[in-house]
Amino acid sequence: MVLSDKIASFLTKGSFIRKMFEEGDRLRKIHGADKVFDFTIGNPTVEPPQKFRDELRKLALNPEPGMHRYMSNAGYLETRAAVAEVLAEQSSLPFSPNHIVMTVGAGGGLNVAFKTILNPGDEVIALSPYFVEYGFYADNHGGILKVVPTDKDFLPDLAALEAAIGPKTRAIIINSPNNPTGAVYPAHLLERLGRLVEQKSAENGRPLYVLSDEPYSKIVYDGVEVPSVFKYITNAILVTSHSKDLALPGERIGYIAVNPNIKGVNELMDGLIFCNRTLGFVNAPALMQRLVADLQRESVNIMEYQEKRDLLLNHLTSLGFDIFKPQGAFYLFPKSPLEDDMEFTRRAQAYNILVVPGSGFGLPGYFRLAYCIDKDIIEKSLPAWTALAQELGL
Ligand code: PLP
Repeated sequence: MVLSDKIASFLTKGSFIRKMFEEGDRLRKIHGADKVFDFTIGNPTVEPPQKFRDELRKLALNPEPGMHRYMSNAGYLETRAAVAEVLAEQSSLPFSPNHIVMTVGAGGGLNVAFKTILNPGDEVIALSPYFVEYGFYADNHGGILKVVPTDKDFLPDLAALEAAIGPKTRAIIINSPNNPTGAVYPAHLLERLGRLVEQKSAENGRPLYVLSDEPYSKIVYDGVEVPSVFKYITNAILVTSHSKDLALPGERIGYIAVNPNIKGVNELMDGLIFCNRTLGFVNAPALMQRLVADLQRESVNIMEYQEKRDLLLNHLTSLGFDIFKPQGAFYLFPKSPLEDDMEFTRRAQAYNILVVPGSGFGLPGYFRLAYCIDKDIIEKSLPAWTALAQELGL
């Protein structure tokens, strides 16, 4: 046996997203890149903002001594100060660099957070549909993922959530703007969630945390604003990255921020910084930390995403697909016209349209489209969608 039993079983279950990504490669070799409509992966094709490139050039041309060395495991003070300044503005709370840990993306940050707070057998609640890696991340640190469905608008169902919280529940992970639905959680829901978490923490005699996974927080449309989770939830730990807002997923840069008013804040920060080190990340990439310090108020051009959303949403809706209108992120999550979303995925593949079945997000009966791809490919895909809709009798 080469693999541990657990990893062998995880691998057989596999990731739909990865499988479809590989299928895309196979089809591109046969048909050519512009004839395969690959909506499977949230890997932005837009380039980072010009300011990122300017800063990168500056640093390369004027290297500073020591710029590639280890630094404090929490990250550079100036970067954490830049993050804290923006969070303080958004939340009106006294954020300082001491409340921030720079991390290896949001994925790294979530692992650090779970490692820090979970005892073996502790439960983490995720709201379906959800980013499938949450289950693996929680499992990495002895946690057990418990899945609670959202309501018809893909918003947290507080009654269902309350019923699911037990003495072993240690964290609720929320993700707004959401992957895969594009839903943005309104302030009044966060406020109610904050109250519920306080009540349950008191009942359980230990803190129940809200992990707010927010890599899409700057990607919102139609004037929608993402409320600051810190304004409404004292036990909030925010985990985010610049993978999407600055289009830097390969550079692995993100951060964890902890509500300054959380009980035991210093102890919690010590734990997070320790786990950032001992999980083997040691610290977030030095060069990226320097670059993002000056880019906290920047983002890629959001209008480009909005145009892509509208192009695809309008076409698919006109064909008869039933789709929730996303307010953020860069995904559509339509209802599968066939009851079996896996079968739908196969039927779409025959038109070189690659999508991920809702089953891959814990919600069968839907499918996900990532529209962070070239507009040209989206435009070229429209006739294929029309043909698919006709075949299915929509
Ligand atoms: N959380 C969600 C909801 C995501 O969609 C992703 C990536 O797609 C991540 C976390 C991980 O992001 P990162 O690249 O920063 O690790």
